[in-house]
Amino acid sequence: MFESSSDYIDSYYAASCRDEQISRASLEENLQVDVVIIGAGYTGLYTALNLAEAGKSVMIIEASRVGWGASGRNGGQIIPGFSCDMPPFEAALGQDGARQVWQLVQDAASEIRRRIARHQIACDLTEGHLWTAVQQRRVKILTDWQHEAAHKWGYDQLQFIPKSDLPQHIDSDRYQAALLDPQGGHLHPLKYALGLARAAEQLGVKIFDNTKALGYQADIDGVTVQTAQGQIRANKLVLACNAYIDQLDRRIQGKILPVGTYMIATEPLSETAARQLLPSGYAVSDNQFVLDYFRLTKDHRLLFGGKCSYTGRTPNNLTEGLRQDMLKVFPQLAKTKIAFTWGGHIDITMPRTPDFGRLDNVYWAQGFSGHGIVPTCVAGRVLAEAINGDETHLKLFTALKNPAFPGGETLGALFQAVGMSYYRLRDYF
Ligand SMILES: Cc1cc2nc3c(=O)[nH]c(=O)nc-3n(C[C@H](O)[C@H](O)[C@H](O)COP(=O)(O)OP(=O)(O)OC[C@H]3O[C@@H](n4cnc5c(N)ncnc54)[C@H](O)[C@@H]3O)c2cc1C
Repeated sequence: MFESSSDYIDSYYAASCRDEQISRASLEENLQVDVVIIGAGYTGLYTALNLAEAGKSVMIIEASRVGWGASGRNGGQIIPGFSCDMPPFEAALGQDGARQVWQLVQDAASEIRRRIARHQIACDLTEGHLWTAVQQRRVKILTDWQHEAAHKWGYDQLQFIPKSDLPQHIDSDRYQAALLDPQGGHLHPLKYALGLARAAEQLGVKIFDNTKALGYQADIDGVTVQTAQGQIRANKLVLACNAYIDQLDRRIQGKILPVGTYMIATEPLSETAARQLLPSGYAVSDNQFVLDYFRLTKDHRLLFGGKCSYTGRTPNNLTEGLRQDMLKVFPQLAKTKIAFTWGGHIDITMPRTPDFGRLDNVYWAQGFSGHGIVPTCVAGRVLAEAINGDETHLKLFTALKNPAFPGGETLGALFQAVGMSYYRLRDYF
């Protein structure tokens, strides 16, 4: 379904870090390693880093280039937590188990900062994320979460910002209130992925670009992965393919639906104009079901994301549609040109819960459901621990039930499209 290209798509991110895009060779021989990972996005890279740090020999094969998928195209918003929030974890694991998941999230938010510092990844890290309410009745979602985070999960850092104080952060009338998470933030996602890859290679991880896994066989001793030019034999296999898994493993793929989501970047604004829009420089996302998210870049552009598509087709008039959404927030940008438009796919599960698992020697992590910078870091730790023989954390995730979409991708997409139309209407009213 997805054709990977041999180069990055035309995004602001690819255009703003050309010098860092190292060409890596494709696999042209047979190799043997402890662990082979398919997919060089954050999930694959974090898993590789953790395994290499534990002394394993690891290789990653990537159908396109490092960070070509969602990891090199996303909004760059660091938002501690999973897309489904905590209720599904609490329902499946009770409060003690859910607390362990929350701790993993907190650890991941710290690990991201630690890795950026330790591996010296220049990725424009900026601290702070604002979660906003467009509708008055949804302000309660913010205050409820602030209360739950403090009293159930022991996280008391969230700060409520009433409408009267919002001009200190966002120059827009659209929002009724916000919740500031100082552990949130934003970064340049492709620079970050490229930095993680460099760090992994320094630890001995071999990464092959333009090397698509065409299939694999698992047996009692390990796995064999086929590519066009070479074969890999490994004790363990990690599927880190996200929405792009396609036909590689129909069983795993059946539990996720690829959903298109899109972004625009304005031309550079003056530094003063940019600061006026978002004086505190925090990343912002709203709490509508079909959400808008935005932030500034280092070169003073506004990056604005939103919209989604379940049909596999890019929405008509995408740039203008997103521009109109942006103008609802910042009408003062009416004369500002849009310099880039791009999109990517997220991997949603039916209940929006993450899908991490193992079957014999095959491990996977997917189902980030649109919210992956922090959760993929959790996944990398959990999978690496499991491969090293400790499944304690993996079991927290396998306790979640992620059913296959009924009727596969086509019918599943239809159900989701109908469901989303309903939620869009609810957002509207
Ligand atoms: C437009 C957009 C905006 C987003 N915004 C945010 C945000 O602001 N904050 C946030 O937290 N999350 C966001 N996300 C989600 C986040 O980017 C993802 O959850 C995360 O990057 C997933 O990482 P991954 O490594 O699992 O997958 P990916 O980064 O997609 O990597 C999977 C890789 O596997 C490769 N692959 C697949 N099949 C094969 C095969 N057969 N052989 C070899 N390689 C293969 C693909 O080429 C791809 O490079 C956004 C996503 C999109 C698309």
